Amino acid sequence: MATTITGQLMSFIDKIKRVIKKITHTLLTSVRLKPTRREGEEGGEEGGEDPSSSASTNHKDDKQENQDQNQSQENKGSAAMASPTEQQGSRWRDLDKLLARPGNLVGSNFDPSPQLKEDLQEYTKVLVVGAGGLGCELLKDFALMGFRNIEVIDMDTIEVSNLNRQFLFRLQDVGKPKAEVAAMRVMERVSGVNIVPHFCRIEDKDLEFYSQFNIIALGLDSIEARSYINGVVCSFLEYDADDNALEASIKPMVDGGTEGFKGHARVILPGLTPCFECTIWLFPPQVKYPLCTLAETPRTAAHCIEYAHLIKWGEVHSGKPFDPDDPKHMQWVYAEAVMRAELFGITGVTYTLTQGVVKNIIPAIASTNAIVSAACALEALKIATACSQTMSNYLTYNGQEGLHTKVTEFVKDNDCLVCGPGVLIELDSSVTLQKFIELIGEHPKLLLSKPSVTCRGENLYMQAPPVLEEMTRSNLQKPLYDLMDKLSYGIIHANGMTRANGITTSCLKKIRISFKVIADGVADMDTAGGV
Ligand SMILES: [Zn+2]
Repeated sequence: MATTITGQLMSFIDKIKRVIKKITHTLLTSVRLKPTRREGEEGGEEGGEDPSSSASTNHKDDKQENQDQNQSQENKGSAAMASPTEQQGSRWRDLDKLLARPGNLVGSNFDPSPQLKEDLQEYTKVLVVGAGGLGCELLKDFALMGFRNIEVIDMDTIEVSNLNRQFLFRLQDVGKPKAEVAAMRVMERVSGVNIVPHFCRIEDKDLEFYSQFNIIALGLDSIEARSYINGVVCSFLEYDADDNALEASIKPMVDGGTEGFKGHARVILPGLTPCFECTIWLFPPQVKYPLCTLAETPRTAAHCIEYAHLIKWGEVHSGKPFDPDDPKHMQWVYAEAVMRAELFGITGVTYTLTQGVVKNIIPAIASTNAIVSAACALEALKIATACSQTMSNYLTYNGQEGLHTKVTEFVKDNDCLVCGPGVLIELDSSVTLQKFIELIGEHPKLLLSKPSVTCRGENLYMQAPPVLEEMTRSNLQKPLYDLMDKLSYGIIHANGMTRANGITTSCLKKIRISFKVIADGVADMDTAGGV
């Protein structure tokens, strides 16, 4: 008896489920049509804009529509992964599941609705920094995830050795800018996405450029470049009087990195989670051999290779620069290194190792890039839509032996010079630099003596060397307000000596300065929080 009732109940529930599914599908489709049509109109002049829009009304007959679509499809070079119509019909199915339904793991401000997808597509602007192994993957992932406004910056050109993993590039692309080719390839394949390439150094762009993006995704292989972008992003960060980061000033970053079978993905919300600089110690120091070791007491195969590369090459080829991409040059270094190794009874010098040491090559594995980039892209989607809580905050992946992943929650360094609040000081606009230097010597949180003072990388006063001291000395009598371009708020870095427990150490401090209304009068200083 019970079984029969349960059975009937189940089939009834199944029936209801089917009906609901049908209704939801119809609803979603009708909602989806509106933005698509609008995009079709707006994007008309751009030519390549989503050609499937007009046909999505008939998306039930996807396959029949293919031919029509292919006619209107202007991307003749695209060996599309699926026909545009097919893409439109089922393309956002997974995204819809994430954005249109509630869930247990959603972010605190998540409001499921089809509108979210439209917002994601229309308003979210993402910058991908780097168009190499990770960058190619990131661009593809973002495009397929529904991000439509993407820009990419990379200063490199394509090399033959990139082709095994930087899958957007072909042999005929060798020598062309990575950013441009990557953007073109993704746009050819994914309809509706717009990727603007920037073939230049990250330093060539000003702050305004970086400020326009909602999310910045890093696919870089250098610590310096990461530090630079981190500094830029943290420079947008503002704190209130209680040292709490102002939400509107937080620019989220996702950072990926790989080395062989290992990789990491992290979410950086400056002011809330540790910035790149807070956890800089995570990176091992880069290997550099002292020249005397290379010349006199080599102990490893790498020493022998570096000897041939850094010392012997110069001795033999007076003035001729070593070209790491010239196989003849590499062969020469290899042969010299082998001789050197024999002389000292060292084994292990191979041509591959020679290439690795000389070019400082970190082996790159395509699958690691794909996995790390997928994790980064997913975090970006979470940040953009709050469809799930973001990872907190550092994922490590190791596929070296078996597979191991782990998420570690690193903590922010409150004294971080880059993302930390620093010490807030309120000043009268008439305070001179000289007076300011005296004040930070007495400030209980600073106690900085003999400080050199910089503002946005510009030297305001330098204690040493004497040449710089002389050059900056005249600033001492000028009001700090004037030196800081008469802005009511700014950040100063002061490098000086501080004393604690009888020991004097040198330290660098971040100071937030807020100027009070201009008034003539005695220089005065208030300290934040009544200290
Ligand atoms: Zn930091």
